[in-house]
Amino acid sequence: MKATHLTTEQLPDAARRAGAGHAEMDPQLLSALRSLVDEAGLLLGEDVRSRHPGVFMSRIEADVIVRPTTVEQVSQILALCNEYAQPVVVQGGMSGWVRATQTRPGDLALSLERMNQIESVDLANRTAVVQAGVVLETLQDHLQQFGLIFPLDLGGRGSCQLGGNAATNAGGVRVIRYGMMREQVLGIEAVLADGRVVSSLNHMIKNNTGYDLKQLFIGSEGTLGVITRLVLRLREQPSSSNTAMVCASSFDQIARLLRHMDGALGGQLSAFELLDNNFYSVNTAAGRHQPPLPSDKPFYAIIESLGSDQQHDAEMFARALEKGIELGMIDDAVIAQSERDKQGIWNIREDLEHVVHDFQPFYAFDISLPVGDMEEYMQLVTERLHGQWPEGLIAFLGHVGDGNLHIAIGAGQEPDREQVEACVYEPLAQYGGSVSAEHGIGLEKKRWFPISRTPIERSIMHSMKAMLDPKGILNPGKVLDLSEGAA
Ligand SMILES: Cc1cc2nc3c(=O)[nH]c(=O)nc-3n(C[C@H](O)[C@H](O)[C@H](O)COP(=O)(O)OP(=O)(O)OC[C@H]3O[C@@H](n4cnc5c(N)ncnc54)[C@H](O)[C@@H]3O)c2cc1C
Repeated sequence: MKATHLTTEQLPDAARRAGAGHAEMDPQLLSALRSLVDEAGLLLGEDVRSRHPGVFMSRIEADVIVRPTTVEQVSQILALCNEYAQPVVVQGGMSGWVRATQTRPGDLALSLERMNQIESVDLANRTAVVQAGVVLETLQDHLQQFGLIFPLDLGGRGSCQLGGNAATNAGGVRVIRYGMMREQVLGIEAVLADGRVVSSLNHMIKNNTGYDLKQLFIGSEGTLGVITRLVLRLREQPSSSNTAMVCASSFDQIARLLRHMDGALGGQLSAFELLDNNFYSVNTAAGRHQPPLPSDKPFYAIIESLGSDQQHDAEMFARALEKGIELGMIDDAVIAQSERDKQGIWNIREDLEHVVHDFQPFYAFDISLPVGDMEEYMQLVTERLHGQWPEGLIAFLGHVGDGNLHIAIGAGQEPDREQVEACVYEPLAQYGGSVSAEHGIGLEKKRWFPISRTPIERSIMHSMKAMLDPKGILNPGKVLDLSEGAA
């Protein structure tokens, strides 16, 4: 299948402007925007530059940040931007890892941070209606009083927004039990590039009336519409929780243990996180985190169960681990005896500060592939990396229960980025793996996108983008390159 390349003249207006860079925002547009929002709703100059630029980005280049408070304002802002072919980059909590919120001079950034109301919690239906700018942790805390949880959980919980979680189809540590964001969202309200509001605020688990439009926006990284409101599915708050750190001499033991624990815990397995020796050793080095187990094994895993009867569940958890040891799947295990122990174990997994410090230049990867192929893949990547940079540092960790690995690398110099990336991404093709398990594509992974999506799949994505955003104003240049055209 051959790709059709569009010329610059054929590109949609905003994509052409974004490609050219340095386009100045039309002063008439700016003054029209001023009339749509209050004084705090429009930031310029130093107020823009001084804000958090996002992960792996040094500063916000956009000319202006607009901060609406209502869906009507979002609709009016987008209609206006569409008229002027003004590129718009949606900002959530700016915790994404793939530079999907990166802006250029001349861009308008649209921040959802002032649309941060938890509008309602329906106890009978177990749903919550939230505005897109609500921070994940704020909702988690708010729900405690009702004995309910929103089960999505990830390290960026204190800054990421639910709209951003939906726009990236976030995963995190509980996917093995509850699924990704896609499974947690029942309804969505989103504003299209031309200002039309798609109100798909379904509250039911079952609704098979035609195409499920909300799924279009989930995982679209701000390229198809601006998510303004969500209906979220809530779950009962577990009243028991058990956590262990285990170690093993081979990956095969870990893979067998995953199946064993899933079966033995009768549906209570809620996290199964891998840490290889390199990652474990970095975080448990002297003066860092207290190691619950000696750092002499190649693999470690954090296992968590959530249930409803602490005594019964703790016994079941301990029995399952003992059986794992008996069957040769675990070399050693430590069960947390207190909340402090649990937090201590999770800190070893979630603290990325030391690895970022020690692995320089630091590269972070998020990929997925079948669990059965992981060991071979890890060896292959390590060999490729060390073939080029014998002193290169590499560590594997991740949500192995979901087939998701994160890879931290410190190798070569910054200009070697593409060769380092090739070591990680190219071997995925032979396993049918994905270059992005949960972080998305953004700008970071565009070059490698074809490894995981066929020409026809990409062509359909181009068509959808062209249909919903014909002028290409929404997050231009992210995920897809319009200049690539259809396959
Ligand atoms: C310490 C740490 C740990 C993390 N762990 C995980 C993890 O385990 N799993 C995981 O999946 N991610 C993880 N992340 C990445 C990140 O937190 C998620 O991708 C998160 O979902 C991004 O949400 P955000 O609000 O910060 O979005 P942003 O970073 O602001 O934006 C991300 C993308 O979504 C778009 N967007 C944001 N809001 C909207 C909206 N309302 N409408 C339309 N588009 C929108 C943006 O344009 C951009 O394309 C981690 C991040 C950190 C810092």
